[in-house]
Amino acid sequence: MMATFPRNNALNPTGDGNGYSCVSCNTNLSNPITRVGFSLIAYFLDIHTWKRIMDSPSLASVRLRMIRVDNHSHIIHATIHEMVAAAKANNLTEYSITEHVSQFTELRNSAGFGSVHDKGRMFESLNEYTAEFGKIDRESQEMRINRGLEVDYSPRYEVKVGDFVNQEDWDILLCSIHEFEDGKDIERTGREIVDRLVAYARWYDYFRLEQMALESDFVPFNVLSHPVRMSRAVKLVPPEIDDLLIDLATTARRRNRALELNGNDIDYAPGLVRKLALACSKASCRVSLGSDAHYPKDVFQNMDVAMDLVHEFKLQSL
Ligand SMILES: [Zn+2]
Ligand SMILES: [Zn+2]
Repeated sequence: MMATFPRNNALNPTGDGNGYSCVSCNTNLSNPITRVGFSLIAYFLDIHTWKRIMDSPSLASVRLRMIRVDNHSHIIHATIHEMVAAAKANNLTEYSITEHVSQFTELRNSAGFGSVHDKGRMFESLNEYTAEFGKIDRESQEMRINRGLEVDYSPRYEVKVGDFVNQEDWDILLCSIHEFEDGKDIERTGREIVDRLVAYARWYDYFRLEQMALESDFVPFNVLSHPVRMSRAVKLVPPEIDDLLIDLATTARRRNRALELNGNDIDYAPGLVRKLALACSKASCRVSLGSDAHYPKDVFQNMDVAMDLVHEFKLQSL
């Protein structure tokens, strides 16, 4: 005897222990052949549903399967040994050391950077910097290590910095906006701003500079780093921030450059980094994952969050 069920209950237990029957077609299923047919469909549907559940991986297992990369770090406060050891401890497949161009004495003295580190190691030459990479011990060789630079962009010294960087070929070059056109530090100016329109004007200036950097060939850079860094100083963002980010990602895509999901930015502006990831997905722009570590404890910082964003928005990463 079949149990009857109300319409629109797609799958219901039959009550007789024979699996599930489809009863949405309002039939009493007295024919045994029909009954077997419906039971099979229900059975396969059920297997399909079950399989889908089993195939949808947890974020933890997604993270385990993803390649672990950190494309942004520094060696001015810790040695290259200490930073590489931290990268190794984090099981990285690829690790990039990308020192600021402003940490090179020659350029610091001639470019007049508006934003520099007050403390930390200075390099006398590119040779001195390159020699550091020769000190990396052999057991770290299974991890790919990129010799790179973080290159400041500003129209004021674009040519000078370009000439310095382009003396050599690099594994990776990051490009950063650290100052406004007048030389004011983007992370240290504007904290006092309370007027919305003044704050928005700062953001327009900042995005305009980022757009200019993306359009520039002053160095063959791969990544625009920390694209929402200015939020460290100016918390009030324009109402059309999503559109500004999509415009940026569209330019980056056209110029074949990635936008960075930066570990520091994730710390103090996780919502903005999420918006950035969404913009990259809409514009089909690649992203680059970089912790921006200056100390061993910060290597790969917040990259689990960045990896989750890559997975969630199906982003392509470097
Ligand atoms: Zn930077
Ligand atoms: Zn950096």
